[in-house]
Amino acid sequence: MTTAELTLPNHSLPTADPRLDAIRAKVERGERLSLDDGMVLYETPDLWGVFELADLVRDRLHPGVAYYNINRHLNYSNVCALSCKFCEFYRKKGDEGAYTHDMESIAAEAKKACESGATEMHIVGGLQPYLPWDYYPEMIRTIKRVAGEHGTDLHIKAFTAVEIVHLAKIAKKYKRANRKESIRLILSELKEAGLGSLPGGGAEVFDDRVHDETHKGKIRSDEWLDVHLVAHELGLNTNATILYGHIDQRRERLVHMEILRRAQDQALSRLGYADDKDAFTEPGLAATEEIDIGAITLTRPGSKLPTPEMAEAAARNADGSSGSPGGYFQTIIPLPFIPDGSELEHLPGPSGIENIRTLAIARLMLDNFPHVKAFWIMQTLAMAQTMLQAGADDIDGTVVWYDITKVGGASTHQEVTVADLQRAIREAGYEAVERDTLYRRVERDGRSWKLA
Ligand code: SF4
Repeated sequence: MTTAELTLPNHSLPTADPRLDAIRAKVERGERLSLDDGMVLYETPDLWGVFELADLVRDRLHPGVAYYNINRHLNYSNVCALSCKFCEFYRKKGDEGAYTHDMESIAAEAKKACESGATEMHIVGGLQPYLPWDYYPEMIRTIKRVAGEHGTDLHIKAFTAVEIVHLAKIAKKYKRANRKESIRLILSELKEAGLGSLPGGGAEVFDDRVHDETHKGKIRSDEWLDVHLVAHELGLNTNATILYGHIDQRRERLVHMEILRRAQDQALSRLGYADDKDAFTEPGLAATEEIDIGAITLTRPGSKLPTPEMAEAAARNADGSSGSPGGYFQTIIPLPFIPDGSELEHLPGPSGIENIRTLAIARLMLDNFPHVKAFWIMQTLAMAQTMLQAGADDIDGTVVWYDITKVGGASTHQEVTVADLQRAIREAGYEAVERDTLYRRVERDGRSWKLA
């Protein structure tokens, strides 16, 4: 482990599991793990051995540091056409508590974000069936205008993949036979308005059984991946999530991770990373039919992480003309299912041990994702802090307002101070580094900031 803070007294350490030895050898060499390796990591009683392996990878990628940001979340509407079983956020039009922000209140939120020194607005909402398409680019332009009036900028990370498909439909640009082009049109217009990146929500667990039983009507994994693939092709970075701990099985989670890392192989190959034809690739689980490359890992000693500068360089041809842009997945965010208030309230939800184990396994399996986030809103800050020593390198930001989930009866106002975030990171043994949305270091003087 990086520091001694998490070390338990020796008498409480479980017996080391010899099945971890072969996995350790692979991890030390930076080799890709198989789904069977993942199952061993889930089943072994040597929990601390799993954390230690995840910490080894995390320290190789981000030695001595952990990240936070100053952000503000905006849920523009909780009115949704769907009724996913695990969701406590959605309302139907006319329901008590249903809301939709108008441009005036969006501008007011942007003003508060600027005044707090935020670098990012994180925006998601329900699949609002009554708003026109124009509302969405206008929302982005409004926030950008307010930021300009305050002499600053706000990176806009907005809209999950299912929202993007919904926007294509309400814009009447969605063609099932050519859905990638529909998605490209929508993302291009949003990017033109000022969209900076996509969050990773709505992935749930990539499995048709889970899909049909818990969120039928929502897009399936292939369409979720198409949205992210097109975003990457347009030069937009994205994140990915896994919402686990409801009716999913552990192996289904591992398949989800395998599909994500194959999609990232594809993104990184466009950035110029060479694939290793000899490296292990899980048979029969390509993310899309187009992937014909070998594994690309970032966890080998000496590997370089992708950066926005690398993506910009990939977008320029040697003669200065425009080439193909290179967005990529930045972060995997494991999200535990929170039963309270959902249709699946009778389920217990995952335990703390399952949460930290799943995060550590995500770090180990997703060898080509630069970052792993312990999202404090859903994990709690105390747990997120602990997760920094089991694979996480990021605990997200100040958030302020968050309506999607409320752990333990929290209200919509869910805010931590910068001092809280910094202290949590320092206590875990790391230098607390403020980042922007694209993981560039931020230098700050009070509320004003610039990239380092
Ligand atoms: S999870 Fe998203 S799509 Fe499903 S009901 Fe909730 S807001 Fe709507």
